[in-house]
Amino acid sequence: MEKQDIQSMLPQEIEAVLLDVGEKPFRAKQIFQWLNRGVTDFNEMTNLSHVLREQLKERFHLTAPQLLEKQVSTDGTIKYLWAMADGEAVETVVMAYHHGNTVCISAQVGCRMGCGFCASAIGGLKRNLAPSELLAQVLFSQMESGRPISNIVLMGIGEPLDNLESVLRFLELVNHPDGMHIGMRHITISTCGLPEAIDKLASYHLQLTLSVSLHAPDDETRDRLMPANRGMGIDRLMAACRRYQDETGRRVSFEYAMIHGVNDTVQQAEHLARRMLDVGGHVNLIPLNTVAERDLGSSTKDAIKKFEQILRRRGVNVTLRRQLGGDIDASCGQLRRKQERARERRGYHDQLRTDGQGHCAKRQSGLLPD
Ligand code: SAH
Repeated sequence: MEKQDIQSMLPQEIEAVLLDVGEKPFRAKQIFQWLNRGVTDFNEMTNLSHVLREQLKERFHLTAPQLLEKQVSTDGTIKYLWAMADGEAVETVVMAYHHGNTVCISAQVGCRMGCGFCASAIGGLKRNLAPSELLAQVLFSQMESGRPISNIVLMGIGEPLDNLESVLRFLELVNHPDGMHIGMRHITISTCGLPEAIDKLASYHLQLTLSVSLHAPDDETRDRLMPANRGMGIDRLMAACRRYQDETGRRVSFEYAMIHGVNDTVQQAEHLARRMLDVGGHVNLIPLNTVAERDLGSSTKDAIKKFEQILRRRGVNVTLRRQLGGDIDASCGQLRRKQERARERRGYHDQLRTDGQGHCAKRQSGLLPD
């Protein structure tokens, strides 16, 4: 029998397994609580009998992400590169705000959305993350940093709505009163804007914040920047946002990365203002983070200020995103890319050294155990 992922399970599901082996159902809550304290060895679950611990070991595996790299910014932002059980790496960032610590987690290993300005898209999608791997990023970043996490944003690597099933389960896990118990109102999901998935999410009536990465008010520019827009169009996306707001009663917010000479003209500001007034949305302007592989730069300070003023004058709710972690590899996907580039370089040299025995290169790159 293949071992199951107990760290992705809710107490009622653990309970069903316990009943199956003739155990008392209330043990499920104890096990769930241990898991949500980051225990990764059944032997540490000291209030369970030895027999039960052995039965659990037979049925389930327990894993903890391994810390590959940690960068600490002078402003206190911490960026982690965590390796999952199969060696795939994802980034997690802990940021300190006046309202508490926010963790930014990755939804997938890589991404298949192909946005032209984003480091995460390079190399495409490797795989989805399991609910337990989403939870582990929150839990282990909290434990490693010693900072209690009060807010979560799904704004790291990957597209959360392209891994909706795992994300929905993760929300149940992290929101559970016997788990980390983080309220839905403290959770934000960022999406490149997939209308069908937005409709599906709306049907759950969750009180979280949905943030749509818009980055352009016109299809010509958005098609160019974000392949997910092609053949779909902004009108359809906006209609889905409106339905989402009607269904959930929660305002959608919009992200707009300011890219020099691409989406920062006066006309685009006016166009964006019309779109925002139409949907009643709030806009976050973000200076583009330069990515080594991308030939795009941030708009100038003056252009951003002008853009912001136009929106404000038109009555749009707009904020300029405070940049944290500017001195570390802050933009999502950058740290993982750096590690992959290092891997590629090491792999190449190892390959030379081992005279074509490629399998050694992989092991020597540090991602596979000796
Ligand atoms: N796939 C989701 C979440 C991950 S990206 C989404 O598209 O929203 C998180 C946010 O960072 C998105 O708004 C994305 O467009 C933005 N982003 C990606 N690369 C960036 C860069 N180089 N500079 C500024 N923002 C960037």
